[in-house]
Amino acid sequence: MAKKKDATLYCSFCGRSDREVELMLPGMNGCICNDCAERAVELSHEYLKKVASSTLPDLDMESLPKPEEIKAYLDQYVIGQETAKRYLSVAVYNHYKRLSQKRDDDIDIEKSNIIIVGPTGTGKTLLAKTIARMLKVPFAIVDATVLTEAGYVGEDIESLLTRLLAACDYNVAEAERGIVFIDEIDKIARKGDNPSITRDVSGEGVQQGLLKLLEGSVVNVPPQGGRKHPEQKMIAVDTKNILFICGGAFEGIERKIAQRLNTHVVGYGASNHVSKEDRDKLLHFVAPQDLRSYGLIPEIIGRLPILTNLEPLDRDALLRILTEPKNAIVRQYKKLLEMDNVELVIEDDVLGFVVDKAIEYKLGARGLRSLFETIMIDVMYQAPSLKKKRFVLTREFAERQLSRSNYELLSP
Ligand code: ADP
Repeated sequence: MAKKKDATLYCSFCGRSDREVELMLPGMNGCICNDCAERAVELSHEYLKKVASSTLPDLDMESLPKPEEIKAYLDQYVIGQETAKRYLSVAVYNHYKRLSQKRDDDIDIEKSNIIIVGPTGTGKTLLAKTIARMLKVPFAIVDATVLTEAGYVGEDIESLLTRLLAACDYNVAEAERGIVFIDEIDKIARKGDNPSITRDVSGEGVQQGLLKLLEGSVVNVPPQGGRKHPEQKMIAVDTKNILFICGGAFEGIERKIAQRLNTHVVGYGASNHVSKEDRDKLLHFVAPQDLRSYGLIPEIIGRLPILTNLEPLDRDALLRILTEPKNAIVRQYKKLLEMDNVELVIEDDVLGFVVDKAIEYKLGARGLRSLFETIMIDVMYQAPSLKKKRFVLTREFAERQLSRSNYELLSP
């Protein structure tokens, strides 16, 4: 009986009276105080988490995409970058294999986190996003630049996992087998080569924090990121089975590679001059030592055993990017106009012209879209109200549109 004669309410769980607690909630045959109610919520969350992990559907190897299939999917959206695509496909497939491994197996397959080095705008994020679309596990993309050591302005390292949790509706068991893509990992590199002279607290501190996640440990994750709500309950996430893919431009790493190769191959006294083409080729030879000279701590490098690189995009690759991917820019514009019942015809020399401008203004693949946008803006503006059902995009038109824009200011 929760109710006594004096109308005092007693908690049916801890027995305290309503004078001893902040809130007493009466039910049909008893009462519960706010403390016991909170504890009940916690217990039910723990229970549901256990149930969720024991009922998590097994990944059925038969139905999972094989590396060749994963790569074929990537090929539809990402031009070139053959090596990186192969590495990624194998890594994702092996991740599935680890997850479907029987627990009593003697051989514990270790996870192989990946690091992709490549100039900006060559497809790192595109690769990550594309692979996310076909994955059978939760996936999150996070930017390393927002990360700071706990206690500093910015996001705590643990917030990486908040995104992953959000990607699977806070199902912890699902998140624990997910994949996290950490972009701009080079931005947390230590600024100097010698840690004792130029100690860069933020970079190294963040790397130490990150190491904990990469190694596999149980991390307390704030549900909404940041430290804005100190009272909110943390969610414990085990990172043992989470695959981490890191990407970074590592600008200037060619110099470190060249230094290493020169001293090895040619010896001292070799010319320090490295041409642009040679610099591009040097990325092929990127090795863990170079990441170390760049400022990643050895422990982090050790936890990212697969190292691959992206190629700089040449003229031919940029041309292909305009037309070949499933959602290529040209296809998108054709589709947009088609929705207004206008057929877009692009003359042969227009694409080459756009690519040349992207190269001239040093905009890379990222610039293709904005160049096209500038060229097409007036057409997009007028097309819906015009009677004409066909628009032919000529090189002269494209040149005129660009010369009227601010692009010429970018001219070297
Ligand atoms: P980053 O390497 O800096 O992460 P992104 O992946 O964000 O570069 O590339 C920027 C844009 O350039 C993409 O959204 C895409 O439109 C285009 N792009 C870059 N590389 C490729 C590629 N290899 N294949 C197709 N499109 C690409």
